[in-house]
Amino acid sequence: MPSNKLPTFEKGTVWLAGAGPGDPGLMTLLTAKGLAKADVIMHDALVSNDVLDWAGKDATLEFVGKRAGVRSMKQTEITAIMIKHAKAGKRVLRLKGGDPFVFGRGGEEVIELAKSHINFRVIPGVTSGIGGLTYASIPATHRDVNNVVSFVTGRDATGELPNSIDWDSLAASSPVIVFFMALKTMPDVAANLIKGGKSPSTPVAIVSNATVADQTVVETTLATYANDVEKACPKSPAIIIVGDSVKIRGLLKDYQQTISSSNVRVDAI
Ligand code: SAH
Repeated sequence: MPSNKLPTFEKGTVWLAGAGPGDPGLMTLLTAKGLAKADVIMHDALVSNDVLDWAGKDATLEFVGKRAGVRSMKQTEITAIMIKHAKAGKRVLRLKGGDPFVFGRGGEEVIELAKSHINFRVIPGVTSGIGGLTYASIPATHRDVNNVVSFVTGRDATGELPNSIDWDSLAASSPVIVFFMALKTMPDVAANLIKGGKSPSTPVAIVSNATVADQTVVETTLATYANDVEKACPKSPAIIIVGDSVKIRGLLKDYQQTISSSNVRVDAI
């Protein structure tokens, strides 16, 4: 492997890295290198154990995510710890699920690092909003279906449906919509989209634990969402896709993705 082409993880710097949606095979080489070389790894709840298995044996793992949906540490505390470690000369890997700049608050963290004159690198990851769809055999774009795909969060900082979303124009302009953090608010979302002009029969897929061994997919429609979800109880985290691209799943159902083995060594990087 041509490992000399990858940048050095310098002491006293922070790598803010995406871990991908769960399957360790979806990590970038840079994230894998960060895991192997970091002194401290500060990770969120959405980072899978199979990804953390790639940590170097001397690395300290610090969990700074939510437990049972409740954030145990404030954002300002997380940033302060990161800065403290970097100033102490540590190589800090700040590891987030998916991509750190997609509904991950990564921007807020690096702004604070910049203010404190800490050197950092941001490493993109495969977002669950694309990788999670792929593992459910749903293309994010498909020529016959959509020229537009939207990423939407189902909750704002208070945990409620964001009131900044113009549902009518979203319904009219985006044939495929990918919802993050929307399990709770989705019945309202479905009603808003129907009110905005989407057909009640628009297909919907709920992909829970995407790309990990217990991935499940529930297929429903905007009209039947509330009922079907009550019966199926899909687990969190879940990504919810609204649009005709969900139908493509049916054509590919005999060819499901397998999850990469985590039993691989990172020494080569
Ligand atoms: N930065 C992340 C998103 C963080 S917001 C990314 O790019 O994927 C948290 C939301 O991401 C969850 O509520 C869920 O909607 C989605 N999510 C993250 N990982 C997931 C997974 N493995 N399966 C399904 N949804 C996931």
